[in-house]
Amino acid sequence: MDDFTKFIHSGKLAPLKKWGTKWSLWPVHLVTACCGAELAHAFASGYDGERIGALNYGIARQTNFIIVEGAITRKMARVLRITWEQMPDPKFVIVMGACGLNGGIFWNGYNLVKPSEVVPVEFFIPGCPPTPEALLRGIRQLQKKLETGEAESSVDFYDLRLQKGKIPKMLPKSPKRISENPLIIVNRAKEVDWAFGKELCEKLKALKLESVVITAKNRIAVKVSESNLKETAIELKKLGFDHVKSVNVIDVPAENKFIVEYHISSYSNKDLMPVIVNLFTEIPRKEAKVSSLADIFPSADYMEREMHDFFGVEFKGNPWKGKFLLAPDTPEFPLRKDFKLQEEIYVGD
Ligand code: SF4
Repeated sequence: MDDFTKFIHSGKLAPLKKWGTKWSLWPVHLVTACCGAELAHAFASGYDGERIGALNYGIARQTNFIIVEGAITRKMARVLRITWEQMPDPKFVIVMGACGLNGGIFWNGYNLVKPSEVVPVEFFIPGCPPTPEALLRGIRQLQKKLETGEAESSVDFYDLRLQKGKIPKMLPKSPKRISENPLIIVNRAKEVDWAFGKELCEKLKALKLESVVITAKNRIAVKVSESNLKETAIELKKLGFDHVKSVNVIDVPAENKFIVEYHISSYSNKDLMPVIVNLFTEIPRKEAKVSSLADIFPSADYMEREMHDFFGVEFKGNPWKGKFLLAPDTPEFPLRKDFKLQEEIYVGD
């Protein structure tokens, strides 16, 4: 540290520097979760966070303050760290929301990371979400710490963690039952006054389908065997359907199967625009392979990759080879129903 910098930090100008920093906390825009709505509230005209010198700013290199708004996921943790690294010193972090403290409502999720493990945190603001008043109070506490070097908590914390095994009485654990009837109804026919749909169904019946039913106006469920999935998709394309809106996988462990469904519609054919065909097939859980429709409907590509990462279903022919959608250390197939989540253990009086 050169003499001038030392003088600024500890000489006669030090109080001025502290005063300047105190009233110039500029939080970087980094909305990570729903707590961001309360942050917006705190800086809108009602509370006007700018009154206390905090001005949200879009560029990390010109800010000195991060307000982590709730949940930080594995993927977002990297972004948080990179943003923090880019900011000039001195820089400060406060975390708002129960999710940022210890996971909040996602406490046993596979995807949550504690912000305090990613960046140094000055203060936590509890609540789900914390009120704008609480956030402003957190900023005021940080200002006080900058000015006096002391921090005070506005909450008296008690350590409520109960020790495992100390008291033998166990309260019930979270249920682990796998439902026998998953109540997944994708092909319940309905009597609907929809002549165009009936016409469409007649055309589809000419194909080798397991079933085709109208489930509501503009909704048709088409069940096919895995071997006919691709062929049916090609026929749908010939009829004027031109894109996949979503690809879903439903895990049904009680019946040892996955249901893979494509929601197919059209942008180019006016009559088909409101229509969504749910094209679905069932595959065994052990041999979870299904033909990719990405070459017929390119919009399926990204969603197939996502479903692979979440459920481990292999989409044969999808050009992607390997994971990249989820963060590298994400556990395998976290949306399978038998994925082991952390258990909550209660031990108490
Ligand atoms: S603490 Fe509540 S409001 Fe904040 S991110 Fe978590 S769930 Fe959303």
